[in-house]
Amino acid sequence: MSLVRAVRGMNDLLPAEMAKWAWVESTFAVALSRAGFAEVRTPIVESTPLFVRAVGETTDVVEKEMYSFVHHDDALTLRPEGTAGAVRAYLEHTVHAREAITRWYYNGPMFRGERPAKGRYRQFYQIGAEILGDQGPGCDAELIDLLHGVLQALRIPDVEVIVNSLGGPTTRDRYREALVQYFEPLKDKLSADSQRRLTTNALRILDSKNTGDRDLAANAPTLHEFLSPEDEAHFALLRRSLDALGTPYRVEPRLVRGLDYYTRTLFEMKASRETLGAGDTVLGGGRYDGLVAELGGPQAAAVGFAAGLERLVIASRFDPPTRVTDAYVVPLGDAARFLALTLGRELRAHGCFVEIDTRGTSLKSQLRRADSLASRFALIIGDAELAEGVVVVKDLVEHSQSKVATANVAAHVAKVCARGAQ
Ligand code: ATP
Ligand code: MG
Repeated sequence: MSLVRAVRGMNDLLPAEMAKWAWVESTFAVALSRAGFAEVRTPIVESTPLFVRAVGETTDVVEKEMYSFVHHDDALTLRPEGTAGAVRAYLEHTVHAREAITRWYYNGPMFRGERPAKGRYRQFYQIGAEILGDQGPGCDAELIDLLHGVLQALRIPDVEVIVNSLGGPTTRDRYREALVQYFEPLKDKLSADSQRRLTTNALRILDSKNTGDRDLAANAPTLHEFLSPEDEAHFALLRRSLDALGTPYRVEPRLVRGLDYYTRTLFEMKASRETLGAGDTVLGGGRYDGLVAELGGPQAAAVGFAAGLERLVIASRFDPPTRVTDAYVVPLGDAARFLALTLGRELRAHGCFVEIDTRGTSLKSQLRRADSLASRFALIIGDAELAEGVVVVKDLVEHSQSKVATANVAAHVAKVCARGAQ
């Protein structure tokens, strides 16, 4: 029979990879918790209009990438990003009425029907956060600096922090007109997608991945010429805050981002192209002061980010050990196996990582398994040891062995492996 395979662009994460994943996730979660962010979990499926409204009708995500389906007359979509669901939950549970400032983070799978490549999948994972109820730019700088710190902790080399300001809605409208004027005479040279964007959403041409479009965009007017004095002041204060923090960054006047809801502050962080190729952006974020109102809520300022876990894992230069085994318990015979089970439980209570060989196989094959797990100790219990009340403690690193009274084995192993009782 032929094998059933996973869906293209959707990956299994096997235990050997999970150690690094778990480490990346917990590094993020700890850093965010220390800054007052609390975890939120929202459904993977939301109603389709939520994303159309929140992400924007003319974005690539909504136009081409969503997994949408109808189920019993409901138009549903597998979430392509996390902000829309988080803001929906914030409004649905009237959190804004109870909290002046809300700091949430999330971690989970997202779905986009893109062409799979390195660092680009159809199911992928994002860690993201939102700060609702703060106009910035102080918290924008705080967030950018925190994320830069996390990428350092993840040992991602050559991180580049890029910032820009998109201004408010009126700035954007005036800039859009200027872009239409600039690109109109070049229309024939643009990709088919960007020709369409010229009428639907000219700003998106700047975000095109097409190299021809990118070359043409290089000389387009920049948004900075159109910023209002208030937008200008917000951006200047953001830069001064980053300077005060000593966070390295580069202003990129043509940085725009895929989703429609951004206002003012925008940022991206890139790892080196060497490791990630074209998909070198590990995280992106920005301010979206208009989104809460757009989704039917009050006027509430907001800023957030989302990081792609696959790209972080690829870019990180640290490989935590996949599996730790402090002790492998090797019983020889039925009676010894009872003691092995008890001893294993006691060792775990001492904080040790312990596996017990319950197969009833030979000493040789049990020791081979202890070796293959790179266990520090093998704890051998045979009839003679049972009678004597001892265990043979074989140190597989130091290549030594001794007899230890059964009652003292757990303390002995825990001391060498420097693990305390739980
Ligand atoms: P890109 O320009 O690479 O398509 P994007 O602008 O669509 O990214 P966002 O929607 O801002 O990305 O998502 C934030 C982060 O999520 C990205 O920086 C990236 O790390 C990750 N990401 C986005 N799409 C994918 C995908 N299809 N596969 C893996 N990671 C992704
Ligand atoms: Mg994309």
